[in-house]
Amino acid sequence: MDENHSLSARLRACEACDGFGVCSGVPTRGYPATDAPREACGVFGIFAPGEDVSRLTYFGLFALQHRGQESAGIAVSDGRRIDSFREMGLVSQVFDEETLEKLRGVIAIGHTRYSTTGSSTLANAQPMIGEWRGGKVALAHNGNLINALALRQEMEAQGETFEATSDSEIMLKMVVRAAEKTNSVEDAVAACMPKWQGAYSLTILTEQAVMAVRDPWGVRPLCIGRLNGNSTIFASESCALSVIGAELIREVAPGEVVIVDADGLRSRQAVPESRQALCVFEYIYMARPDSVIGEHLVHEVRRRLGMQLAEDSPADGDVVMPVPDTGWPAAIGFAERSGLPFGEGLIRNRYIPRTFIQPDQRLREMGVKIKLNPLKEALRGRRVVLVDDSIVRGTTKRGIISLIRDAGAKEVHIRITAPPYKWPCYYGVDTSSRSELIAAREETVEGIRKAIGADTLSYQSVEGMLKALRVSHGTLCLACFTGEYPIPIPQDVKLSKLDLEGRACRRREDAPETRTAGPSHIETPA
Ligand code: SF4
Repeated sequence: MDENHSLSARLRACEACDGFGVCSGVPTRGYPATDAPREACGVFGIFAPGEDVSRLTYFGLFALQHRGQESAGIAVSDGRRIDSFREMGLVSQVFDEETLEKLRGVIAIGHTRYSTTGSSTLANAQPMIGEWRGGKVALAHNGNLINALALRQEMEAQGETFEATSDSEIMLKMVVRAAEKTNSVEDAVAACMPKWQGAYSLTILTEQAVMAVRDPWGVRPLCIGRLNGNSTIFASESCALSVIGAELIREVAPGEVVIVDADGLRSRQAVPESRQALCVFEYIYMARPDSVIGEHLVHEVRRRLGMQLAEDSPADGDVVMPVPDTGWPAAIGFAERSGLPFGEGLIRNRYIPRTFIQPDQRLREMGVKIKLNPLKEALRGRRVVLVDDSIVRGTTKRGIISLIRDAGAKEVHIRITAPPYKWPCYYGVDTSSRSELIAAREETVEGIRKAIGADTLSYQSVEGMLKALRVSHGTLCLACFTGEYPIPIPQDVKLSKLDLEGRACRRREDAPETRTAGPSHIETPA
């Protein structure tokens, strides 16, 4: 079965749910007016006796908001019991003073979600809570398991039931089951890790401890910080450490489990490191520019990408402009190296909610205009070199170019700091299916140039990108450019988020009483 057929079959399976109003969020969900891959998720964890951990987690999640805007949640323990709250929406919408007041404790984890497996519903919001005879476990996940469907089928055959449709729930249930045997959540996590294929950066909370867990490939980032000398923080990105005044200590190593409890911090290499495969898109687009990943400040990496591009693909223009906001550092680098002046030509409205723009062609094009407003005075009569990080479907770029031309620009030259995006991601970044990727559809760069309506178009080469990154080729995942997936994708399980949805839809047809998602809640011990 080819990928397109498989995708449309899954969409058809999902349409069966429209009447239930649970899964309809998948085919009809909103998309932002951006032409970049959509983020993964953000995870956070803290062990800080004497501190207001729920408020610090709130600030940490606020700093990680760019990684997921669909739902947010915090689970907190006072050493004896775990309470949690999760809801759909931005961190600032989900939590208020009253909610944070109720979440009292000394250890916490938090999550901001962008769905890559499982639809955008409350049932899939995190942290997810499980229970074994020794207590509760809360889990927050960034990444995507490629063998989620096989694991779920195996567990269902053994009588397990699922309330959500995400791979994170599968991981949680596996940990809970394993804990019953090992009598320890720490040992249970270590026992499960060899069975998890794919990307996972986790924070896990028990009544007494918080853990940080990273897959053996190190696909998604996860770092450790120290606050006031004796408190430990885990976060997807270091920007979440600095906003609460914590200092970056190091990254969680691929395959490592780091545990913090009243006895202090300890670490175990639960599975051997594999060939490392940090997602290169964390550097190019996803991470915040003020984060440090692999000892590189992301802003500086992006500036170098722009400089390299200016060397390899110069443009005959009057001014270099970024596509805000992620194109900024690269455009600065391009202007620096090319000697052309840097200027602003597009003003971004930062207050467009992600769900505002619907994913049909007409509304997507309208969404570009709502989100980016051209500065006519800066554009009129000029030859504009527009620098951006990526082109995924091409729709938004076409909209932006026509916006700039309508505002009076004489020429528009597009320079992209990433190589052509040709292959979908299975490790936790929501790209389109291959048939929707413009670089896969069009045979040549010239074909893409015509499709988006630019005067000239150049991409960074893979070699140029690696030179600018100053990161060894063998430590990165480059699969969306090369099609070489460092963790092999099973041919029969081209997992997208809809694989599990289709199964959930069919189950709901059999069990209509499960049609509504659960209410938001403060969970307390039974
Ligand atoms: Fe990142 Fe692309 Fe690899 Fe996905 S396929 S992890 S987006 S580099």
